[in-house]
Amino acid sequence: MTPPGEVARVLERARQAQAEWAQKPLRERCALLRRLREVMFARRQEIAEVITREAGKPRVESLLSEVMLILDTADYYARKAPKMLRPERVPHHSLAVKAKSAWLQYEPWGVLGVISPWNYPISIPIGVLIPAIVAGNAVVLKPSELTAWCGALVGELFEQAGLPAGVLQIIQGKGDVGAALIEGGPDKVIFTGSVATGRRVAEACARKLIPCVLELGGKDAMIVLADADLEIASSAAVWGSFTNCGQACLSVERLYVEQSVAEKFTQICVAKTRKLKVGRGLDGDTEIGPMIRAGQVTRVEEQLRDAVARGARVRTGGARRTELGDCFFEPTVVTGVDHSMLLMQEETFGPVMAICPVVDAAEAVRLANDSAFGLGATVWTRSARRGREIAGQLKVGTVMVNDVASYFAICEAPHGGRGASGWGRTHSKHGLLELVQVKYVDVDRLPRVPKSWWYGYSEELGVAADRFLEMLFAPTFRERLGSARGALKTLFRGHRI
Ligand code: NAD
Repeated sequence: MTPPGEVARVLERARQAQAEWAQKPLRERCALLRRLREVMFARRQEIAEVITREAGKPRVESLLSEVMLILDTADYYARKAPKMLRPERVPHHSLAVKAKSAWLQYEPWGVLGVISPWNYPISIPIGVLIPAIVAGNAVVLKPSELTAWCGALVGELFEQAGLPAGVLQIIQGKGDVGAALIEGGPDKVIFTGSVATGRRVAEACARKLIPCVLELGGKDAMIVLADADLEIASSAAVWGSFTNCGQACLSVERLYVEQSVAEKFTQICVAKTRKLKVGRGLDGDTEIGPMIRAGQVTRVEEQLRDAVARGARVRTGGARRTELGDCFFEPTVVTGVDHSMLLMQEETFGPVMAICPVVDAAEAVRLANDSAFGLGATVWTRSARRGREIAGQLKVGTVMVNDVASYFAICEAPHGGRGASGWGRTHSKHGLLELVQVKYVDVDRLPRVPKSWWYGYSEELGVAADRFLEMLFAPTFRERLGSARGALKTLFRGHRI
């Protein structure tokens, strides 16, 4: 545990380390990422085991949704960061500034505060740390108190890869340590977690005018049109709803299925759900591990009770598996749901699939958009054209057509939401750009020519200024040309103060 009073010292150390780290050539920082990838690859089994022991998810998921993602992320930024961070020439469109050459430069923010959750305790923090560090920042990471062991492992992996001391520091503890991190004044905060905490983080950042990225909860909708391949779509729905025991921000939580196929689709989902093996994550054939803590199970039970009281029907599951422990809950399929229910309004974050028949795609879109959240959505149809059309109507950060959730592991895909799902992006070039400051550098090509707007105002200059606007913006070329002489003559008459 890090005493909150220690955090200021940690930040100070980060500031000193960052100053040196940012001076290293980018190729050296990219080489660090290649070494990190080697270290993580060599220790992949151990990383997966630590995740599964601490967070409970099946080992296959630890390997595929965590270890694979961080290996690929290290590879991606080691290759792409030099191009993404290279100063970018700015071609000016306006004649008024043709005599200037300019660049965009991408500079590190300095010290970043990264606060992360327990549900992807390795891939979420490392997915931010890799671009943050290659861009020349130092990071103070506050992992979830529920996965402190994974948090410590993150620090160990970077250290083994040769990251200089102080560039990444891990502080451990509960929310008070996260709050102390923000209070200590990092240059930017990257927060991933619940809406309630996100709001507190945003308020604390606002008080200190610290910018922040907020990756918050989700209530992702899956739209299944009548022409979808129901076998494939149902397998995706079952996996998308229950992976990591439903504890993923981009879990499928609401399904809107065209009514002509809704009952058939539901029956297939129920049959597939009943076959899933619930058990301990370390057992090789486990498909549904435990939830993170009993309180999380209670929340799921409350939502189910509310839904049933309002007329919903549990088609399979719906109960704890107490013989396995307090945190094991059966994967559950519910029908007869509507938007008056907590189950359709609040994030469930548990193994529950709620299926709602709809008249047509338009109703599905309307209901999908009827949510405070806006993280992701998925559309199932044999028509790629319809899929893209519907994707365009959904108010979310990401839409997958005929796949679910896997975009989180696609390095080129920006991740982030709208509304209560937060703001800003992680992953991809857009995620990297959140971790740098953009500086515009402008070099005048005519340094000996004074600018005519540097005082010496007069009636004559006013007329010339107006001619100048005509020259630039008059509707026809002839009018522009007509104004050019008068404008330029006066404007370039030389500076008079
Ligand atoms: P949480 O909000 O309880 O905690 C997240 C982190 O914030 C933890 O490290 C916690 O210690 C810290 N924290 C708590 N209070 C704080 C405070 N006042 N100031 C600063 N830090 C504080 O979330 P959780 O239960 O760990 O994670 C689950 C939530 O995260 C779900 O809502 C899920 O949807 C969301 N999530 C979102 C994404 C995404 O990318 N959008 C990804 C994963 C999880």
